Amino acid sequence: MFGVGNQWLSRLAQRAHLLTPARWPSSCHICKSWPRHSICEACIQRFAQPQLRCKTCALKVSELGCRCVQEPPPIDACLCAVDYDFPWADCVKRLKFHNSPQSAQSLAELMRHAPWVEAALDQAHWVIPVPISAQRLRERGYNQALELSRRLAPAKLLRHALLRHHGASHQVGASRKERLENMADSFWIAPGAHAQLVNQRIVLVDDVMTSGATLFEAARCLRQAGAAHITGLVFARTPSGWGARQ
Ligand SMILES: [Zn+2]
Ligand SMILES: [Zn+2]
Repeated sequence: MFGVGNQWLSRLAQRAHLLTPARWPSSCHICKSWPRHSICEACIQRFAQPQLRCKTCALKVSELGCRCVQEPPPIDACLCAVDYDFPWADCVKRLKFHNSPQSAQSLAELMRHAPWVEAALDQAHWVIPVPISAQRLRERGYNQALELSRRLAPAKLLRHALLRHHGASHQVGASRKERLENMADSFWIAPGAHAQLVNQRIVLVDDVMTSGATLFEAARCLRQAGAAHITGLVFARTPSGWGARQ
């Protein structure tokens, strides 16, 4: 589990100027202060405090530890920047539903500066975005996980190896059981891509982790293809987590 210190926050504050340096003045997406960066330093200080989290499932935990010790998820590690809660849920909605792929820049910077993330990216052979279905891609015009990935580690981006079957169901509003059933066999490896994955360390990127069903199923698929180590990396994690009865 992570220790929580001020070192991470002060380091992030020092680098807050990196958050989407605007070519012209713009307002903070959260507090609307103007002119500011797309997410201002004050909002980072107020809302993005690092939390003590389980390194395996990214849930906030007490000193007593996490229940996933008894029920380990099929992934080696999970990292996240913030809780999927106010004000970050609105930032995710802006990224996904407001035709705003460029807003991935500030969210990716927050992810990069979350505890353990830079080390995971440094050690990874590949950074792979969780794919969305072809239908969703047509509707949205872009994959938000790809937009995050290309800003996290463009030189390590592997974007066409992990694919998603057509018609993967909507997860919004689904129960945990339904999410797991919906995810079964949703992912597959592109022909010829297996050789790129064998014995490799992967960082698997998505915008939000709710039940964990999507991330875990994608991780299973990569593991079956021979990946040696898989770290899930998401911008936001629902506070209730994968073990909650949703
Ligand atoms: Zn602000
Ligand atoms: Zn855990």
